[in-house]
Amino acid sequence: MFSLPDLPYPYNALEPVISDRTMHFHHDKHHATYVKTLNELLEKAGQSPATLEEVIRGASKTGDKKLFNNAAQAWNHSFFWAAMSPEHEQPQGDLDAAIKASFGDLAALKTAFVTEGVGHFGSGWVWLVADKSGALKIRSTHDADDTLTQDGLTPLLVCDLWEHAYYLDHQNDRKAFLEAWFDALPHWRFAGFQLAAAKGNGEPWRHPANGEGSDRKQVRAG
Ligand code: MN
Repeated sequence: MFSLPDLPYPYNALEPVISDRTMHFHHDKHHATYVKTLNELLEKAGQSPATLEEVIRGASKTGDKKLFNNAAQAWNHSFFWAAMSPEHEQPQGDLDAAIKASFGDLAALKTAFVTEGVGHFGSGWVWLVADKSGALKIRSTHDADDTLTQDGLTPLLVCDLWEHAYYLDHQNDRKAFLEAWFDALPHWRFAGFQLAAAKGNGEPWRHPANGEGSDRKQVRAG
């Protein structure tokens, strides 16, 4: 069984950008349902894979859309929680240098990130990713799709573009949500660890493995 990871901060910690009410619906209902369905599908198939990453890559290869969608949505949401922080951080060190090299400055990265998210039609995710050279890029993916199936890319941050992520707090104004999100919530220290992993220094974030409890610490000490 894959567990639903606990949030690494209180439900109200991301206010006012993401309300306590949204976090309860989003984590306790939406995310929980993906995890529950994932476990039901694996049980029905008599499978007990060790990691969620192998479920996602395997289902992508075999074209098992239902398994892929639930596994990837379970992973994407856990990564989304881990890549946010209530501490209003700023990018530091190598990450700050990579942002300047790839985008010019943080404001330009914000514009590119928000523009990609606003221009993305329908549900999905907007990502900041790094390639193996440490160059940063912005990607958006549809529905449950993620960057795990794209060779050579490591995700640093993600923001949820499904309406359930912002409708209670920002109604239809996805742009206002993305701008407020970018200013307040990226866990830049986490993104820095992911950038180092992209270049071969350390391991990237992994979802709690099959049978691993929900109490595993999601945010690494730095
Ligand atoms: Mn969501």
